[in-house]
Amino acid sequence: MSSEAFVTLATNDGCALGALVVAESLRKVGTQRNLVVMVSRTLSDLIRQTLQNSFDEVVIVDELNSNDEQHLRLLARPELGVTFTKINCWQLEKYSKCVFLDADIVVLQNIDDLFDREELSAAPDAGWPDCFNSGVFVYKPSKETFRKLVAFANQQGASFDGGDQGLLNAFFSNWRSADIARHLPFTYNVTSNTFYSYVPAVTQFRNDIRVVHFAGALKPWQLTYNPQNEQLSGNLGGQHTVQREFLLAWWKVMYERVWPRLSKQNQQLNPS
Ligand code: UDP
Ligand code: MN
Repeated sequence: MSSEAFVTLATNDGCALGALVVAESLRKVGTQRNLVVMVSRTLSDLIRQTLQNSFDEVVIVDELNSNDEQHLRLLARPELGVTFTKINCWQLEKYSKCVFLDADIVVLQNIDDLFDREELSAAPDAGWPDCFNSGVFVYKPSKETFRKLVAFANQQGASFDGGDQGLLNAFFSNWRSADIARHLPFTYNVTSNTFYSYVPAVTQFRNDIRVVHFAGALKPWQLTYNPQNEQLSGNLGGQHTVQREFLLAWWKVMYERVWPRLSKQNQQLNPS
């Protein structure tokens, strides 16, 4: 088991706060696997040190960027070119199998059973269910696959959406039809921005949800949380009650498990 790992990615301090919630929410539900975070060189000392304490391994990676402004404009997400950095996860060959998790997720129930699945297993994307969402996927690290992915990206001219999801769906293009065992249940990657479109299903399957993914432009770390009255403030317009509930679940992990680590680390770096 020791050679299996959950892997996430943070190229800036905001995503790194998310990565800390990923780690602490996995520990809270009793994961038995290693926790790995890939980072670029641009993080602050406080964040980097806290990541060192929370994760089993911090791996510095080079930023890869699709530089594909045309397709990213179609998606209205200019910041996503850097998500190509994600494919560095295939280089982590010391692990026999990994589960990649975006930094904008919170784990609500144990998901160690994902390691029973094969590459490439992922859940359907709610916007286009014949594509998988690349926020949660099971894969087998292999430098050869990494090289093929880079070559494929160069040859294709990046990806059809400008981000990693288009690239990975084009590369693992048989996902949609080859093997139903590689289709994860939606409960392993519930994109919170799509709750609104099917609230009765969220209500019906609420207790089965294992992973909530805050895909989209609004990230939980951009909001403010008041622990006294457990209220969120910030750009919450249009958020449905269930969406707010899951944003609160993220903030509870942040406040109860990540914040104390950040404060302790801050005291060590800046003793008064
Ligand atoms: N990411 C990062 N820095 C960035 C943008 C993204 O490290 O500037 C990483 C982070 O792990 C994030 C993932 O890439 O969760 C995918 O991006 P995002 O979650 O914003 O995409 P979405 O799920 O909203 O499509
Ligand atoms: Mn995401």
